[in-house]
Amino acid sequence: MFELTGKVALVTGASRGIGRAIAVALASRGAHVVAVARGTNAEATAEAIRAAGGSAAAVSADVTDAASVEAMMAATLQHNGRLDVLVNNAGIARDQLMLRMKRADWDEVLATNLTAAFTIVQAALKPMIRQRGGRIISIGSVVGQMGNAGQANYAASKAGLIGFSKAIAREVASRQITVNVVAPGLVATDMTQALTDKSQGDWSAQIPLGRIGIPEDVAAAVCFLASDEASYITGQVLAVNGGMYT
Ligand code: NAP
Repeated sequence: MFELTGKVALVTGASRGIGRAIAVALASRGAHVVAVARGTNAEATAEAIRAAGGSAAAVSADVTDAASVEAMMAATLQHNGRLDVLVNNAGIARDQLMLRMKRADWDEVLATNLTAAFTIVQAALKPMIRQRGGRIISIGSVVGQMGNAGQANYAASKAGLIGFSKAIAREVASRQITVNVVAPGLVATDMTQALTDKSQGDWSAQIPLGRIGIPEDVAAAVCFLASDEASYITGQVLAVNGGMYT
């Protein structure tokens, strides 16, 4: 089940946290993984996958830079000849109450979490349309569904990913390309370290399943949507949030 042997999967933000877990999980199911982050940050992930017997390469890219994204896609296609699975995972938060939020905080979050998905999906669709198949999975957030005080920029970017994905799902369905969003709740990573260190107990009490998520919870949902078994699922938002928002 959820076998990915022979597939080429590109994961952005694969240096740590949820992206790293997704890269490791896809590789453990047989995919060749292109692990992307800035500088040399994704190399340790690719090395760990190879050390465990999987297949992976690290590629450096800043997803907010169109030329960098173009080079990332060119390198992926040159080395592998195809792209089967794209996971838009790279993301940032710059939290601030609306009245105090700087325009720069808005711009940076939208550029990384939403505009980058536009640039990368546009580049990825070309090989996928040629292949007449593919999987595009973007990592949204429960915050894009329910909102959260202090996160207007982040919520807008993640809600935007949902509309973006639903529109493209309709455009490319005839080519057997599926486009979905996985929306995690609170997951223990660098992004949420301050929050989770301070109030693990408070948060857990608000989550019906009684615990904060781990990156592997999200990775399992991504592996499912990437698999042949999910070929009839498109334009969906799969919540992985322990029941905190239904
Ligand atoms: P994280 O630990 O902070 O990791 C962020 C990743 O994004 C890193 O690999 C980072 O790579 C990469 N990245 C950031 N800006 C980039 C850029 N301009 N170009 C290329 N890569 C960039 O975050 P996380 O918690 O794993 O979150 C991963 C995704 O899940 C994000 O989209 C986030 O919004 C979403 N999410 C997280 C939670 C949560 O509770 N943690 C909940 C819902 C959704 P570098 O090594 O280059 O910095």
